[in-house]
Amino acid sequence: MHDLMNYHKFDLQLNKDDIACSVWNNLSKTANPSSNDLPERVLDEAHQLARVKAVCKTMKIIKTTDRQVFLEGGQALTSSLLVCLAGPAQSLFLAICTLGDLIDKRVDEYNRRGLAAHAYFLDVAGTCLIESAGRKLVKQVKNKFNSAGYKTTIPLGPGHSYWKNFIDQQIIYDLLNPKDLGVKILSSGMMLPKKTLSLVMGIGHELPPSKENHCHYCGIGHKCPLSRALRPAK
Ligand code: SF4
Repeated sequence: MHDLMNYHKFDLQLNKDDIACSVWNNLSKTANPSSNDLPERVLDEAHQLARVKAVCKTMKIIKTTDRQVFLEGGQALTSSLLVCLAGPAQSLFLAICTLGDLIDKRVDEYNRRGLAAHAYFLDVAGTCLIESAGRKLVKQVKNKFNSAGYKTTIPLGPGHSYWKNFIDQQIIYDLLNPKDLGVKILSSGMMLPKKTLSLVMGIGHELPPSKENHCHYCGIGHKCPLSRALRPAK
């Protein structure tokens, strides 16, 4: 199983439909009528600038406690939600996915030129694209493991309210070593380029049921513009 999804510099192709998310759709409606093709143009630009790449690794779980999952090599990830959902798994799948730095650079350039709306839309388009890239990667990974007879948990990641130990970002970074992708990590745990994410999934035969996605476990919930948690029926 451990060689199933180990790869470096995985190229992921995104198409226009991949960005279809409520954030972008709502934001597009707020565009100034005199420049209402701006979101469309900026979205095209984001697609042209995005260079989606990922590094992935599957690692054996050697032990779990009520707060931590220990991996082969001795590193531990500290998240009670991870323990709850992936504790019974045999392995963890780890990935870092990035769009590269061209979007960040263009956003900076727009800000320098005083084109604040362009900068804002491009930044949001980049955020929607990296989220879409993560979802697409997860779909491919799930299909691959499912066809080999394994189940997968929903993807989780440090830095959300349900996984506060941001030091774990450094552990995931060190395990995956995404330097060849141009991804750096700051002492705060933040990764650069900005449009970069990490994700962790449990892989095993018997896994507990879970909600549809991690937003359901997040304390920010519906206040987050990117939330994918369903709104309660009124
Ligand atoms: S609600 Fe927002 S912050 Fe919370 S997990 Fe979802 S996207 Fe992340």
